[in-house]
Amino acid sequence: MTAGTVTRDLVIGLTRALKMPGVARTFEGLARQARDAHWPHEDYLHEVLSAEQASRHESVIRQRLRDARFPEVKTLETFDFAAAEGLNATQLHTLARGEWVTQPENLIFAGPIGTGKTHLAIALGVEATKQKRRVLFTRAADLVRQLLEARDARELTRLQQRLRRVDVLIVDELGFVPFDRVGGELLFNLITDRYERRASIVTTKLAFAEWVTVFAGDEKLTTALLDRLAHHATVITTKGKSYRMRKRRAPA
Ligand code: ADP
Ligand code: MG
Repeated sequence: MTAGTVTRDLVIGLTRALKMPGVARTFEGLARQARDAHWPHEDYLHEVLSAEQASRHESVIRQRLRDARFPEVKTLETFDFAAAEGLNATQLHTLARGEWVTQPENLIFAGPIGTGKTHLAIALGVEATKQKRRVLFTRAADLVRQLLEARDARELTRLQQRLRRVDVLIVDELGFVPFDRVGGELLFNLITDRYERRASIVTTKLAFAEWVTVFAGDEKLTTALLDRLAHHATVITTKGKSYRMRKRRAPA
C-alpha cells in the first residue's frame, strides 16, 4: 500500500464522517487536474468545495421532489402548447420562474377533463422544487379525508402545522367528490390559514358558480373560500377536447 492510497482512504473516511459526498466523488479527479495544470492549492480547495456545494444543492432538490409526492413527473417541456386551447405558453413559462410562490399567490386551473390541468400543476410544482420550495401534491378528496382522519385522531393541529410548512400546496381535482359540511369546513380552514402566507394551486373541472356543489350547498362558506383563494390568484382556463382522446383519434 502506498502513502497515496492510505491518504485516499483517510479522506474518504472523513468525507463520510463529515457528510461530504461531493468531495468524495470529485477530490481525486480534481487532484489529477490540479497536478497536471499546476493549480495553486487554494484553487484546488475551491474546486472541491464548489463540487460539495453543487452536490448538496442537487440532493436538496431530489429530496423536495420526493417529498412532493407527484403521482408522476410532468414538465413544461413535455407539454404541447400547440395542442392546448386557450393556454399562453409565455404566461406558463413566466409562472415557472416562481415569483407567484414568493408573493405568495394562488393558481387556479379550470377546464374540462383531459385538458392538461394536472400536467401543468405538476410541471409548475416541479419547477418550484428546483427552486428548493417545499411542494405537496394532493387530490382534494384525499386531502379532505386526511384532514377528517387527523381530526378524529386528535392530530389535526399536527397535520395543519405540517401543511403550513408547504410552500406550494397542489389541490388536484376539486369537484370530483363533494365534501360533507365538516370536510368542507376543514378545507376552508386550510385555505384561510394559507391566505397571503403560502401559495396554492387548485385544479378543477368546475366553473366558480358550481363550487358550491362541492361544499354541501353552503353558499356562505363557498363565497368566503373563493374570496380568499381567488383574491391573489391567476385563473388559467383550459378548453377543448381531452388530449388523450384526440391523440387516440389522430391517424398514426
Ligand atoms: P386534466 O387534469 O385536465 O384532466 P391531465 O393533465 O391529467 O388533464 O392530462 C391528461 C393526460 O394528457 C396526461 O397524461 C397529460 O400529460 C396529457 N396531456 C394533456 N394535455 C397535454 C398537452 N397539451 N401536451 C402534452 N400532454 C398533454
Ligand atoms: Mg387532472
